[in-house]
Amino acid sequence: MNTCQNCNSEISSNFCQNCGYPREPKRINRQYIIEEVRSVLNFEKGFFYTIKELFLRPGDTIRNYILGDRRKIVKPIVFLIVTSLVYTITQRLLNFEAGLIQYNVENSGEIPLVIRSYEWFSANYGYANILIVIFIAFWIKMLYRKHSYNYYEIYILLCFIMGNSILLYTLLGTIESLTNYPIFQIGIILSLLYTTWAIGQFFGKRNKMNYVKGLLSYILGILSCLAVFVAIIIGVEMLL
Ligand SMILES: [Zn+2]
Repeated sequence: MNTCQNCNSEISSNFCQNCGYPREPKRINRQYIIEEVRSVLNFEKGFFYTIKELFLRPGDTIRNYILGDRRKIVKPIVFLIVTSLVYTITQRLLNFEAGLIQYNVENSGEIPLVIRSYEWFSANYGYANILIVIFIAFWIKMLYRKHSYNYYEIYILLCFIMGNSILLYTLLGTIESLTNYPIFQIGIILSLLYTTWAIGQFFGKRNKMNYVKGLLSYILGILSCLAVFVAIIIGVEMLL
């Protein structure tokens, strides 16, 4: 009998029955590095694997993650933070226009508060997503009442979906700034379609209502986030 190097319980097989730690952990050597790099390049696990799976079968991938299969997929909050960073860095480097809707101020009058808030969201799209997700999760919880997923599980669902949407925006923005072809604005529609499809698939592919609710919770989420944001600004301006 050996004892586990991690939790000190007795081990009779190659892995600890208590915590799953291997009896003789492999040393990190050249072989280990080669295997690690190969699995990343082959899209077998990690960041690229996660992106691939999220584009091909978002609903199943995220459901499996939530139900417990978490070996190959990147952790959701890390995923959203990394994709937001990738977006923000690419946007600063290539200077593509972040405005989700172009708003031209023709008269020099004061810009309405809603538009100003909207512009802040557009300019800070990378971080704003992390806020918007909180609101969309609330609406999903309201609209899919029969399902037993808790708020945190839904939040995880959205971290994955929004992360992949951000990558879509990054890709379109990169193409636009390299080719000068105005493709970035298509991102709004694509991301709307992708999000609707992914949420619907997560809650059940066959029921069409799941897609309708997905679309609704996405739109309501963005609108309510904007509304709360505007309300806070009005409150702060009244106090000052
Ligand atoms: Zn153990």
